[in-house]
Amino acid sequence: MSTSIWDPATPIVLASGNPHKLEEMNALLAGRLRFISLTEAAASRGVKITEPAEPGQTFEANAEIKAVSYARQLGMACLADDSGLEIDALGGRPGVISSHYCTDGQEAGMTRVQRDTANNQRVLAELGDIAPAQRTARFVCVLCLAAMDATGQERAILTVRGTFEGRIGLPGTDGAIPRGTNGFGYDPLFLVGPASTQTSAELSPQAKNRLSHRAAAVEQLVDRLGVRA
Ligand code: IMP
Repeated sequence: MSTSIWDPATPIVLASGNPHKLEEMNALLAGRLRFISLTEAAASRGVKITEPAEPGQTFEANAEIKAVSYARQLGMACLADDSGLEIDALGGRPGVISSHYCTDGQEAGMTRVQRDTANNQRVLAELGDIAPAQRTARFVCVLCLAAMDATGQERAILTVRGTFEGRIGLPGTDGAIPRGTNGFGYDPLFLVGPASTQTSAELSPQAKNRLSHRAAAVEQLVDRLGVRA
């Protein structure tokens, strides 16, 4: 049995504007922690939120920047995530610039769907016909919880990392790639685990929530906070 270091009744602001991530996190954490959205929190505090830049070179650095920035702006506990895809044959790219890989990490006014499509095309083009065994990759999710410390200063109190191992499909050899309509981002390229022929975009939301990097990070979070149901 773990000792709780967190009162589950204390609301935590889920600091992400990505509706897919919010949905997945809410499904994973429902009943164990009490969440409110950034929009709700900002309205309840009468605060206009400024989105921080994410200049960090690691998922940990960016998650901490976001969690601490939002916690300070709102005066509330905030949970932020930073996530992305690491492809071994590309030296870990797209990594921290996963969401804007098609524009080298720059914001270029594209919609999320346009970006996802262009990111996927770039990854497939860069991998070319590299053999399936060399196409190993993983999704990474880092969660950082920031809250007020004893001196009244908001700071990071806990950071955890979860991973989801797989491979980037080779069009033709692995059938049609991209494939699948669930999930988002790189899911239609990502073959699950060491041997499955399914992409993570072909998993049901429930199945993805059992296997995903976010699920792995959340497991660690609830253990470390001691709020396992
Ligand atoms: P963030 O919003 O800066 O954390 O960027 C995360 C990016 O990584 C997303 O825009 C996706 O491109 C990618 N990513 C993270 N998690 C997933 C996932 O579960 N499936 C597919 N792509 C993901």
